[in-house]
Formats: sequence, C-alpha cells, structure tokens
Amino acid sequence: LRRNPGEPEFHQAVREVLHSLEPVLRKRPEYAEAQLVERLVEPERQLLFRVPWTDDAGEVHVNRGFRVEFSSALGPYKGGLRFVPDLSLGTVKFLAFEQIFKNALTGLGIGAGKGGADFDPKGRSDAEVMRFCQSFMTELHRHLGEHTDVPAGDIGVGSREIGFLFGQYKRLTNRYEAGVLTGKGTGWGGSEARTEATGYGTVHFVREMLATRGEDLAGHRVVLSGSGNVSLFAVEKAQALGALVVACSDSSGYVVDEAGLDLDLLKEIKLERRGRLDTYAEARPSARFSARGSVYDVPCDIALPCATQNELTEDHAVSLVKNGVKAVAEGANMPCTPDAVGVLREAGVLYGPGKAANAGGVATSALEMRQNAARESWTFAETESRLAAVMRAIHTECVTAAEEYGSADDYVLGANVAGFRRVAEAMRSQGVV
Ligand code: NDP
Repeated sequence: LRRNPGEPEFHQAVREVLHSLEPVLRKRPEYAEAQLVERLVEPERQLLFRVPWTDDAGEVHVNRGFRVEFSSALGPYKGGLRFVPDLSLGTVKFLAFEQIFKNALTGLGIGAGKGGADFDPKGRSDAEVMRFCQSFMTELHRHLGEHTDVPAGDIGVGSREIGFLFGQYKRLTNRYEAGVLTGKGTGWGGSEARTEATGYGTVHFVREMLATRGEDLAGHRVVLSGSGNVSLFAVEKAQALGALVVACSDSSGYVVDEAGLDLDLLKEIKLERRGRLDTYAEARPSARFSARGSVYDVPCDIALPCATQNELTEDHAVSLVKNGVKAVAEGANMPCTPDAVGVLREAGVLYGPGKAANAGGVATSALEMRQNAARESWTFAETESRLAAVMRAIHTECVTAAEEYGSADDYVLGANVAGFRRVAEAMRSQGVV
C-alpha cells in the first residue's frame, strides 16, 4: 500500500488475487521462495507521457498517456487502450494486473499490459480524434512491436481509433506490421468476430456456468449495464440463445423494454449515431427510459455488468438477489465491488469474474495475431468456434482449480489459481528477471 499510494483499484484487484493464492502458496513453498508474488505485483515497466494536440479551433491541449507493461512471462504485453477523461495510473495498473491472469487463462501465448489516456473522445470531431491518436502513437510507437507489446481497444477506443493509431505506427516505422495492434478492420488485417468476441464470450461463459446446474439461457430474462462494444454483442448472443434481454444502460440512464431489446435500433443509435439511450425509448412504444435508479433494479435471471469498474455495488447485489437472479457474469473488468461479490456468493448466485468471463476478447485478439503472423484470415464461423472452445476451456480450468482448493462453483478462486499457476511456472523457468 505504501509503495503504491492513491491507487485504490489496484489495491482492490491485488487483494482479491492474493487472498485466493494463500492455499496455493501453502501447498507450493517453492513459489514463495522464488518471491513470485512480490515480483508479480510490480509491473515490469510503466510509461507515462505527454500527448499534445490541437483541436479544430486551433487551441492546444495536453493530455497524459499511459502504458503499463505488467508481465511478459507468457508472451508480448497484451491488453487494450482506454480513452476516458478521469484515467489514472492506478486504474491502468489494476487493469494490467487483471490482464495477467485473464491472458494466462486463455492458454494462448500472451503477456499482460494496459494503457490509454485521460482524453475524452466524446463530442470531438473525427479530425480531432485522429490528431490525438497520431500524437499518442508518436510517443508510444517506440515501445510497441508484434513481439514486444500489442495494444487493442477498450472504453473509448474502437475501430476508428485503432485505424488512426495503426496508420501513424505504419508511417513512423515504415512497416506494415499487422500484428502490432489488434481490433483492426477486417479488410486490413483484423480478425472476423473480434468486435463481437468479448460480449459473445461472456455469454458463452454464462452458458457453461448454467450448464453446471442443468440449465441453459433459453427463456431467461437478462439485464446488462452499458451499451458499448461488450454489451451490444452480449445482447446479440444472449438473444441468439433464446434469452429475453429486457434492459441495458449508458452513463445517462437505462432503458427497459419488456418486448425485448431491439438490437438493430440499439446498434443504429450507439454505433452509427453515437447517441444516448433516451432516443431508444422515444422510438419504441414498449420501452421506457429512466435517468434515475439502476438497471439492476429490473428483475432478471441473469445480470451482465458490461460498463465499467465498481459499478455494481452491494445495494445493487441485494436488489438482484431479492429479485431472484441466478447468475452474474462480468463482461466489464471488475464491475462488482467486493461487497457486492460477497452478497452474490452468500446467496448462492453463480458469479463469473471478469478475468474469466470476458477473456474472449483478448483470446480472439491472440487469434488475430496468429492470423497476421501466418498471413491468413479465417472465416467468422471458424473464429467463433475457436472462441467458444476457448471459453469452454477457461470454464473447465476454473472449475478444476476451484475443486482442488475449495468448492467447484467458486469461480474467483478458480480463475485466480488457474491463471497464477501458468504464469508462476513460466516465471520459475525463466529465472529471476
Ligand atoms: P465502450 O466504450 O464500447 O462502452 C462502454 C459502455 O459503458 C458505454 O455504453 C458507456 O456509456 C457505459 N458506461 C460507462 N460508465 C457507465 C456507468 N457508470 N454506468 C452505466 N454505463 C456506463 O467500452 P467496452 O464495451 O469496450 O468496454 C466495457 C468494459 O468491458 C470495460 O470494463 C472494459 O475494460 C471491458 N472489456 C472490454 C473488452 C473489449 O474487447 N472491448 C475486452 C475485455 C473487457 P456512455 O457511452 O454513456 O459513456
């Protein structure tokens, strides 16, 4: 704590993992002797840099860029870039730390990193976003490479931003190094199903969790937070599997549509118009928009928090339990507070932590890197079937590790232990580095 002041989210993420690892460290004293945990909580490298840029009116702005290269034990640093106005080093560190275990769980050869900037793309013109991305990449490019560090998108960084970042990287290096960024457009090195992967993968994970209790998604009521990249494609997959998705949110409020969300309308508002959710309710008589209260007050069987960290609080968890929720899976990173997790676990709700449930995005990014290296491009169906297989394997890994150290439905324990073991073995083999 003293070494990392003012980073509460990083402390929260580390505390949860260390708690899970206690029985592993007791059983495997060689991990403790090699000071693996001490090394694992210290990032290999942290970059902070100035990002100056000029808006359309000619005014100069200065933002701060971040990249935390946390662990390269299993492969090049891998993890997204986030552009939000309140981004801090502590947030980036927590995200990069979580990424270590998530990426290990995929079974693919990827290390862990995360980055971004305290820049708000909302309300900015395409030309302003392009100039910002070009300035950001002008500094960051010297630290990247397909074998070194491979960023992707996250909140505020979608295909538009990845395009601008890639263009500038190519210009600065004079190399078409497709594998240096993932989440690219499918016409120029991107993977089919990458855009859909995190949301789809989260629903695949829910399906696996429900199957342990002899159930599936068909006929279940689903509620999600957010209406961005992860949420929209979680809606798509949940509907395809027969669920009734009745509510979602954005930072202005939430909509409830008892007829089931109209995904085409939602995509048009969110992806094409970059609009707010109240316009959804204006266009649909079956829907109502609310700027007050919480999407988690809407009764549901399955809740998928897909917006941001610490958004599902203890009160929300109590409300979900009261309304009979059966499963909660995190499409976002650490959206449930520790108290909320306690309430859900106590009530016997199936709870899938983000590092397992939302690992489908980074797994498909690793598949994109594989296609780039082989100069291949797989079909949507082939990529999605590999994604489904990865999510099944992650679920099995979690259950197996949880059974060994506790109870089979403790997915937090399972994800932390299974992820840690893979990284720990690699670190031990690679010596004190
Ligand atoms: P987007 O920027 O596409 O979408 C984020 C959504 O969350 C927006 O609808 C935003 O609304 C909403 N939101 C933000 N804060 C709140 C809040 N406090 N309450 C309600 N809604 C809110 O981001 P992504 O979908 O890409 O990412 C969402 C989460 O998933 C993040 O935690 C990210 O780290 C995680 N994740 C993303 C992956 C990916 O592949 N994209 C991979 C793995 C995890 P508004 O537009 O109004 O701000």
